[in-house]
Amino acid sequence: MPNVLRFFVFPAVLVSALISCAVPTDRPRLVLYVSIDQLRGDYFERYQSEFTGGFRRLVTAGVNFTNADLNYAASETGPGHATLGTGAYPATSGIVSNEWIDPRTRREVYCVEDSTAEPVEGYGGGFSARNLLVTGLGDWLKASSPKSKVFSLSPKDRGAILMGGKHPDGAFWYDRKAGRFVTSTYYTRRLPSYVRSLDVSEWIEKNVPPSWEKLMPESVYAKYGPDEMGGEAKWQDDSSFPHPFDQENIKEQIRTSPYVDVLLLDLAREVINAEELGQRDVTDLLCISLSGCDYVGHAFGPNSHEVLDYLLRIDQALGAFLDDVERRVGKDAVLVVMSADHAVQMLPEYAKTIGNERSRRIIFRRDLQPKIAALAAASRKELGLLESPVQQNAFLNYEAAARVGIDSVTLEQSVKRSLLTIDGIEDVYFRRDMTSRENVSSYLDKYQRSYYAPRGKDFYVRFCEDCLITSSPTGSTHGSPYRYDTHVAMVFWGAGLQSKTVTREVHTVDVAPTIAKLLGITYPSTVDGIPLPEVTN
Ligand SMILES: [Zn+2]
Repeated sequence: MPNVLRFFVFPAVLVSALISCAVPTDRPRLVLYVSIDQLRGDYFERYQSEFTGGFRRLVTAGVNFTNADLNYAASETGPGHATLGTGAYPATSGIVSNEWIDPRTRREVYCVEDSTAEPVEGYGGGFSARNLLVTGLGDWLKASSPKSKVFSLSPKDRGAILMGGKHPDGAFWYDRKAGRFVTSTYYTRRLPSYVRSLDVSEWIEKNVPPSWEKLMPESVYAKYGPDEMGGEAKWQDDSSFPHPFDQENIKEQIRTSPYVDVLLLDLAREVINAEELGQRDVTDLLCISLSGCDYVGHAFGPNSHEVLDYLLRIDQALGAFLDDVERRVGKDAVLVVMSADHAVQMLPEYAKTIGNERSRRIIFRRDLQPKIAALAAASRKELGLLESPVQQNAFLNYEAAARVGIDSVTLEQSVKRSLLTIDGIEDVYFRRDMTSRENVSSYLDKYQRSYYAPRGKDFYVRFCEDCLITSSPTGSTHGSPYRYDTHVAMVFWGAGLQSKTVTREVHTVDVAPTIAKLLGITYPSTVDGIPLPEVTN
C-alpha cells in the first residue's frame, strides 16, 4: 500500500477500491524470484553480523519471515521448486518427490523427465514441466499481461523448470557434461545467442581460482565451530580449506562451491540485458534458483565453514547483482523475493558434539533394508503368502494376500506391526491414511499434502527425528517432515515494501499468491497458499 494511505482512515469499502486501483501504478517492472537451494531458516539470524551485501540488504530492509515452513513432508528439490512456482502443495502440483515409481508401470519417473522433449545443445534426456499438473506464477502473469516475459534459470534442471511454470519464455539449466547452459525442445528449438555465447570454460578461467579458499579471515569462521568436523565428506584428501579444484573435472566440481552460482548470476545479467527485462512498460519475472548451497550443504553439513563461506560469497555476489539490476531497471522498480525449496539436517556426528545425543546416521542399505527384507519374509510365512508382501519398498502385494483370503486391512496391519519393530521407524502410513480426514496427526497431514494417488506409494515410513537416513557414510541430507528439513528462509524486498520482521508461521505455498496479489493479477483455484498480509497490505 502506498504510504500516503496509511495516514488516512477510510471506510473499508473505499480503502479496498483504492488499493485495487493503486496496485497497477505501484507494480514493480521486474520481479526477481530467487530460490537458494537448501537455504535453512536459521542462516540469516545465525550469520547476520557477517553479512554486508545482498543478504544484509534484503533482511534489514525487507519483510523477513523468520518462521517459514514447507508444511509438507516431501522436503526435496523438485517438490520445493514446484511449490514456490505454483503456490500448490505437492499433492496438488503432482510433483511429489524428485523421483517416484509409477504404480501402474512400476517404472521410476524423474520429476522433470519428458520423453517427448529433446535436449537442445545438452546431453541426456529431454526435460520439461510436462509432469507439473498446475500452472505457475509465470503463467498467471503472462495470462494477465501477454507482453510480460518470464524466464527461469538454475544450475539444476528441476530448479529452473519447476519454478518457471508451464510455459515460460525460456528455462535454462547447467549441463555439467556439456559444460554449458542448455534447454529442451519443450521450450525452444534453439538456444538464444546470449545463452549460447556464455562460454563456461572461458568464464571459469577468468573467475575461478585454482583453489576454493576462505573469503574472510579465519577468526570469522572459528566463531561457529571447527573447519574439520566428523561426518564431513572429503574434497580430495581432507575436509578442510583450501579446496583445490581438479582442472580436469572443474566444470562439474564448481557445482559444489559458490562459483556455480556466481556464474548463474552472470547468466541472469545477460538475460536481463538481452531480453530487456524490467525495462519496458510491463512487469517481467525472472526466476533464479541457486544450487551451490545444496551441494555444499550435502557434502559438509549446515554448520560447516564451507556453507558459511558459500553464504559470505553469495552475499557479496548478490549485492553486486542487485546494484547492477537497480542501475539498469531503476530503483524501486524491482521486487526481490527469496526463499528455498527445503532446508537440511545437521551432520549427526557434529550434532552429538553440541549435545544432541539422539542424533544418529542410519545407512539405509546397511542398517534398514536387510531388516525390512527379513521381516517381509517372516510376514509372508506368517500370512501364508506365495510372494513377498512388500515390493520395491513402496508397494504392498494386495493380490497375493487376496489369493489366500487376506483382506487389505489385515495385510497392512501385519506389515505395520512388523515395520514398527525396526529401530529407527516411528510410523507407517498407507493410502487409506492419505485420504483420511479422521485422527490426522500433525505428521500425517504433512504426508497427505505430499500425496497424489497416481504417483503415490502404498505405504510411507516416517523415520525417527534427528536420524539421518542416507546412503552415505559422510555428508548430510534432507527429505524428512521434521523442522530441520522444512524451516526455510523467506524474505520480500523492494517495490516500496517497508522493513518488517514477521515471526508467525507462514508457508512456502503462500509466496506465489502473495506475489500475484502484489502485482494485481489473479490466480487459479489450484493455489493452496494464501497471500501474506504483511506484504500485500
Ligand atoms: Zn534442493
